[in-house]
Amino acid sequence: MSKRTPIIIGNWKMNKTDGEAKEFVAAIEKAVPEGADFGFGVPFTALSASLSASKKLIIAAQNCHYEDSGAYTGEISADMLLALGIKWCIIGHSERRQYFGDSDETVNKKAKKLFEKGLTPILCCGETLEQFEAGETEAVVRGQLAICLKDLSVDQIKKLVIAYEPIWAIGTGRNATREIASSTCALVRDQVKVMFGEEAAAAVRIQYGGSVKPENIAEYLGEPDIDGALIGGASLKLDSFTAIMEAVKA
Ligand code: PGA
Repeated sequence: MSKRTPIIIGNWKMNKTDGEAKEFVAAIEKAVPEGADFGFGVPFTALSASLSASKKLIIAAQNCHYEDSGAYTGEISADMLLALGIKWCIIGHSERRQYFGDSDETVNKKAKKLFEKGLTPILCCGETLEQFEAGETEAVVRGQLAICLKDLSVDQIKKLVIAYEPIWAIGTGRNATREIASSTCALVRDQVKVMFGEEAAAAVRIQYGGSVKPENIAEYLGEPDIDGALIGGASLKLDSFTAIMEAVKA
């Protein structure tokens, strides 16, 4: 069994106003179990409201820019997040890569900027259905990490969270089998070991994401290299997120 603290993050994507977020976080806050980290990836407009309603939860942004400031209309910098009190940020989610042009190179710049400012990235990787069916998962995921983690330090890697999210499992209801999730998270850890050594690999926390629900979360968390989950759809409703917290506790 891993000594790493499990980390379960709900990714709300483009859902919830500030008022809805505050109400949701306040309700969840009362039921957060000990022994694991729980939190949400929250739209920018709801970050302050969510933080104000929470002491125990991780409140993460869902993206940031890698420059400090400048002519980048519509973007948000790490300093702006920090000024709100935000300490976590999801980067490289497949929806950002697919619709908004994020690449391994920009994810790497974002990771470096977040660490420089004292925030912790939750860095997403994962293959497409086509790559999965062609047996390319290992090459794709190792290749993504080789670029996304480039030039980070061992100390930074020890704090990092990596989310392995096969794109074919996101929002599809088609979750990866325990075996697939487990073996790919193991190769994520091995890639970290290749790049940063044993100690970093033993410390980095790795999440599985893709159609995680109350009914399947426990089986993933039972796997030695899976330290948590990044959860979209099932994090939007109080009853399902509460059931997920119960399942993690059990
Ligand atoms: P899902 O989304 O749980 O709805 O599949 C996961 C994610 O996109 O992080």
